[in-house]
Amino acid sequence: MRPLIVGNWKMHGLRSELADIAAVAAYAHASASFVDVLICPPATLIAAAVITANARIAIGGQDCRSESEGPFTGDVSAEMLKDAGALAVIVGHSERRQGHGETNSTVALKAKAAWRAGLIAIICIGENEADRDAGRAISVSANQLAGSVPEGARADCTVIAYEPLWAIGTGHTATVQEIAEMHLNIRRTLVCRLGQDGATMRILYGGSVDPTNAQNILAISDVDGALVGGASLRASELNAIVDAVTAIAT
Ligand code: PEP
Repeated sequence: MRPLIVGNWKMHGLRSELADIAAVAAYAHASASFVDVLICPPATLIAAAVITANARIAIGGQDCRSESEGPFTGDVSAEMLKDAGALAVIVGHSERRQGHGETNSTVALKAKAAWRAGLIAIICIGENEADRDAGRAISVSANQLAGSVPEGARADCTVIAYEPLWAIGTGHTATVQEIAEMHLNIRRTLVCRLGQDGATMRILYGGSVDPTNAQNILAISDVDGALVGGASLRASELNAIVDAVTAIAT
């Protein structure tokens, strides 16, 4: 499976940072046969980022509303992201689930909206620290998977991102064993539910991935790429993560 590295810029990025997109696009282009790279800047930068990337890397959104249009001040639809040149959209990121009260069913509706607009849905799941400490990491993530991934999910338009909340933005990555166990369970669940599409759907790991740990994490079985927050803001770090994937593939 061709690995995918997704950079989630969150609420960071002004036009002056488009230079980082240009630098990643130029660099990733050279590794294009080994890895796909997608950067999700804030919505304000998507159209300009698409022009800057010049098809050498893909550009995506960080969230969308499930309706295609309507009286929803401040929201962005999947169709609008597509129109701006996005290839994909992240849905159900823990910062949306926690900060905006998004439930599994909200996330499933957003994933369907992404498909309706012709976008790839990157569906995030992951347990919090209390759930992990209580031994519920597998069951919580399985519930999120069941509730957030709509029926009919296909591998060509769906990506799963496993992101334990306690590893996001903390500098504490999950261990190789923890990641391997979670990804294996996610893969089994996907195969059981979706058959061949479940077997070929990309499962990304997210949570403090950086150039120092990327190679170890990306070499784990059933880790088909990474969702990168903080380290994606600097082209040099994202490029080093692209190098880590290339080193594994070659
Ligand atoms: C994220 O935003 O999804 C993320 C994984 O962030 P970080 O890499 O900073 O932990």
